[in-house]
Amino acid sequence: MRAIIIAVGTELLGTDRLDTNSLRLTETLLRHGVELRRKVVVGDSESEIAAQIRLAAAECEVLLVTGGLGPTADDVTREATAAAFGRGLIFDESILKVIEERFTRMHRKMAAVNRRQAFVIGGATVIPNPRGTAPALRLELEACTVFLFPGVPHELFGLIKSDLEPWLRERAGEVALESVTLRVACVPEADVEEQIAPAYAEFGRETITVLASPGDVRVRLSASGRDEERAARLKSMTDRVAGLLGEALYSRREEDDLETVVGALLRGFGATVSTAESCTGGWIAQRLTRIAGSSDYFLGGAVTYSNRLKEELLDVSCELLEEHGAVSEPVARAMAEGVCRLTGSDFGISVTGIAGPGGGSEAKPVGTVHFALAHRESAVSWATVHRQVTVPGDRERVRFFSSQVALELLRRHLRRAAA
Ligand code: AMP
Ligand code: MG
Repeated sequence: MRAIIIAVGTELLGTDRLDTNSLRLTETLLRHGVELRRKVVVGDSESEIAAQIRLAAAECEVLLVTGGLGPTADDVTREATAAAFGRGLIFDESILKVIEERFTRMHRKMAAVNRRQAFVIGGATVIPNPRGTAPALRLELEACTVFLFPGVPHELFGLIKSDLEPWLRERAGEVALESVTLRVACVPEADVEEQIAPAYAEFGRETITVLASPGDVRVRLSASGRDEERAARLKSMTDRVAGLLGEALYSRREEDDLETVVGALLRGFGATVSTAESCTGGWIAQRLTRIAGSSDYFLGGAVTYSNRLKEELLDVSCELLEEHGAVSEPVARAMAEGVCRLTGSDFGISVTGIAGPGGGSEAKPVGTVHFALAHRESAVSWATVHRQVTVPGDRERVRFFSSQVALELLRRHLRRAAA
């Protein structure tokens, strides 16, 4: 089965909106073994949309159109599609009723323009859209099925799940593509590549994709074929590549971030953590608290940007600050231990560094960051580890990467303790 995607919207031709809907549609198609022939972006012009739709419908078996079903005058996908296939538009009272009820539920008055969304292309099937006002439409032509979906991303995603996926499953099935994403933090892309190299020879280069973003690498493994064969192949690939990645692997799930995994480990140990942040300005605390239920293991943190606060809140000695400077190993260690003492947590993470663009020196260039992870062994003794990293890039990159290194330091420590 071949597919074409058409994204409709003048804003998508400009520079401030990206066509992201087609990515989700593409992912769905690939998973069901459908070959994507082309993606098209077209503005809100009725004649242009009609021309592109007619062209595409002649070259594929499933045509997915998103956008232009809204109530405003520039939303003309419905009219364009009807014109492309010489169909009429029929007003459907029952759709109007659903739209009116939706407004009533939200205690709002329906604008007159919303009536337009109750028009149906002759012969089309109406697909209810519980997340929005405009229903989707499905039109069966002789050799091609055309879906018209709303452009609002969360409405589209809902309809993909509720309607497109079941439709594809019935027709595609056998040669579906399935994938698993393995995640690695703070390891350069080239090192990841080297580690997993043996798997290329064993499973084929085209089945493994390495996707790198700063501080985070995804290794995507895919397998196609019949259900059982595909699942078995994917499992053996996953186990093999996970084995090659070893300790560097933090999750086998696309949706996990480092803070998700760190949170689960802390919860498993029944351990608590607190943070002492300088150059990350609270980013680590923000990431940890992004996870629901994090109050079970995250006690709090101190954003100690000035030396005075490092002294007063974290008990970092003035001599240490004067002798080594705020961005130094001894200060990072003292901050981590200090925040543990302050909050009573089992673990303390600290970060102190030079995010730039100013403030660097020859001895401590921009991107120099010190980290410490303190672990209380007894009332008087500490097991504290330190790392120094030089992070390339601009201020935001240094800050994010630093939060990543700090969380990864904690994750590796917890993982070793669990083993
Ligand atoms: P529409 O259904 O064309 O009125 O679109 C409604 C909203 O969804 C607008 O804010 C669009 O910018 C957004 N949108 C439409 N098409 C896409 C797309 N292909 N990718 C991402 N957002 C979109
Ligand atoms: Mg639009």
